[in-house]
Amino acid sequence: MAVIVDAHYHLMQREWFPEPLWETLASHLGVHVSGDRGQKLTAQEFATKYFPTLWDPEGELLFRKMDALGINTTVMLVDDFGLALGEAAVSIEGQNKAFADLARKHPTRLIACAGIDPRRKNAVTILRRCVEEWGMRGVKYHPDAGWDPNGRESYRLLERIQEWGIPVVTHTGFFFPPLHSKHAHPLLLDDVCSDFPDLKIIAAHSGRPLMWETVASMAAIHFNLHGDLAGWQTMVVRDRPRFRQILRRYIDIAGVEKILWGTDDPVYDVLIPTTQYLEAMRALPEDTSDGLRFTTAEIDAILGGNAARLFGL
Ligand SMILES: [Zn+2]
Repeated sequence: MAVIVDAHYHLMQREWFPEPLWETLASHLGVHVSGDRGQKLTAQEFATKYFPTLWDPEGELLFRKMDALGINTTVMLVDDFGLALGEAAVSIEGQNKAFADLARKHPTRLIACAGIDPRRKNAVTILRRCVEEWGMRGVKYHPDAGWDPNGRESYRLLERIQEWGIPVVTHTGFFFPPLHSKHAHPLLLDDVCSDFPDLKIIAAHSGRPLMWETVASMAAIHFNLHGDLAGWQTMVVRDRPRFRQILRRYIDIAGVEKILWGTDDPVYDVLIPTTQYLEAMRALPEDTSDGLRFTTAEIDAILGGNAARLFGL
C-alpha cells in the first residue's frame, strides 16, 4: 500500500485561537454547510453544533480518523493570528510547544509545523526553540494576518528556515475577513522562490479557489514551489468533472511531484467527510469516460509520496 499523508491539518482547542477567529469561522462555515449535510446554519447554530467536535488537544479524534482512513502521517500546522485578531488565551509559544510535544510522542505518525507571525519581536527566538529544541519539522505562514511574505521580517525567518532545510507551508488564496487576503496572493511568492532557491515552499490550498493557475504556472518555473489541495474537497466531491479537468491541467503544468494531498481538517470534515474526499481521490484512475487519464502512480504521489519526500519521512 502506498503511503498516505495528510499534508495540512490543524489540531484545535478553543484557547489556541483568538475569539474573533472562531467568530469568523462560525459565520462563514455556517453559510457553507450545505450539500449532503443539509441546511445553512447561523453562526451561533454552527458554533454550538460543530465547535465541540473540533477540539482535540491530545489528538485522540485525529488518531481515530487516521486509523479508520489509513492515513499514515499527518502534518499539523500551528496558525498565528495573535497580532491580527488579538492574542489567544494560550501564548503562541505555548501553542507551538503543545503541537511539538504531541508530535514527539508519535514521531512516525505526526509532524508538527511551527506557526509564528514574523512581526513578533521574538519571532526568531521562538522559531529557533521550536525547531532546534522541540524538533518541529516545518513552518506555517499566514501572511493574510497582515504582513508581506516578501517583507524584511519574513525574510529574516526564511533565511533560518532555508538553513534548517525544512519546508515552509504558506497560506495562499482567500481567507475570511477581517483577515487580509491580498497578502496571500500566490504571486507574492515569486520573489520568495527566487530569493531562497533551496527553501522548500508549499503554497497551502494552491491559491484556492481560482488562483490555482498562478500556483501551477509558478511551480512550473520554480523547482522549489509546491501546492497542497487542502480545502479542495468541496469541488472534489460535489463537482467531480470540473476537479478532474483542473487536476489534470495542474499536473500537466506543474508536474505531479509538486502537488500534495491535504484536508485542512478537522474543519473541512464538517463540510465534506474526509472519507469521501479520499475515496474520490483514489477513484480518479478508474474513470476514463471523460477522456482524462490519471495513473495510480500519479495519485499515489499526490496522496503521500510527495509529502513523504518533502518532509523527509
Ligand atoms: Zn489550514
